[in-house]
Amino acid sequence: MIDNTLLIFVLPFIVLAFLLGLSLGRKKSENNSSSPSYTLSSDYFKGLNYLLNEQTDKAIDVFIGLLKVGEDTFDTHISLGNIYRRRGEVEQAIKIHQNVIAQPALSINKHNDALYELARDFMHAGLFDRAEDFFHELIEKQSHVKSALNYLLSIYQQEHDWDAAIITAKKLESASNQLYCKQIAHFYCELALLSQKKGDIEEALRQVKKARGADKQSVRASIIEGEIEQQSGNYKAASRAFRRVEQQDPLLISEVLDSLLKCYKELENSKEITAYLEHTLEKFGNITSVLLYAEQIRLASGNKPAALFVVESLRKKPSIRGLNYLIDISLDFTKGSAHKNLLILQEITNKLLDDKPVYKCTQCGFEGNSMFWHCPGCKSWDSIKPIQGIEGE
Ligand SMILES: [Zn+2]
Repeated sequence: MIDNTLLIFVLPFIVLAFLLGLSLGRKKSENNSSSPSYTLSSDYFKGLNYLLNEQTDKAIDVFIGLLKVGEDTFDTHISLGNIYRRRGEVEQAIKIHQNVIAQPALSINKHNDALYELARDFMHAGLFDRAEDFFHELIEKQSHVKSALNYLLSIYQQEHDWDAAIITAKKLESASNQLYCKQIAHFYCELALLSQKKGDIEEALRQVKKARGADKQSVRASIIEGEIEQQSGNYKAASRAFRRVEQQDPLLISEVLDSLLKCYKELENSKEITAYLEHTLEKFGNITSVLLYAEQIRLASGNKPAALFVVESLRKKPSIRGLNYLIDISLDFTKGSAHKNLLILQEITNKLLDDKPVYKCTQCGFEGNSMFWHCPGCKSWDSIKPIQGIEGE
């Protein structure tokens, strides 16, 4: 008896083999009713036998030999190749789709369809150079243009070829009537970071400007610009860039608050530090603002007033990070058993924070402790945000 695993493994092929059998039977009756049918059947069952013994490579040779590629059998060949690709047996998929393309009698449309599947095979195999050539060929022939451009965009992102990614995304905008401005802004940001790494600050700022030109709401462009200006000692320009984030995406305000306060500190503008934190506390009430404001109180007036402020804030919005900070600064003015109890509580909140991710993708749920602009899970741009609520922001 065939077990379930084996059945799942070969079932798609059996179905296709059945379809092949039907096609063969039909062709035989159409073309050559006088020739004996047992020769055909013996090869056909030989192929089936290979499938059942999981010798799919031999089965392919038998079935390809049995059924010539024509307009009426085209779909069967393409489907067989696609099944192999889906199962990860890309070499077999390539073999089948190449066999289809090699047929001179195919119509132009069918030839292009096969070329598209072959390009996807190479993409799946990680042979991006080959896939890229075929996708370009399809675009030139005005066939599968939107899909080919999408695959090319994926290739260029994986290869970090940001110039090519920008060109492709712009072509996709025209081909699909969809906006790719967010992605294009990120590609310019990637170029800006490369220039910054090389020490070419002017070029980095030019790329940031292009990113903002593509997407005015690009938080990443504001952050890169702020960091470049901050590192160059241009604290006013840096603070202007960081302050844009509040309007661009309030969920990401926590990403720039610390840098912004450092800029105001360099500018010796302590009033602006207090004023801006009071503003973000009132508008967002996020824990990063609470902790930074508490730290300002602690530095100016000591641990007790800072602790009182945090207690009030935690009453309005509970937070593990807030509790952890409260315990930390309360240890200084507690003694005896209260001090010991706080140490036990601190151990617990530290453990809770160590185990908790800080960021989460809104598209696929990927979680981590670092901020990614491009989700490692689902490859979406701008989908990762700081986690909100008691365990997060
Ligand atoms: Zn994701």
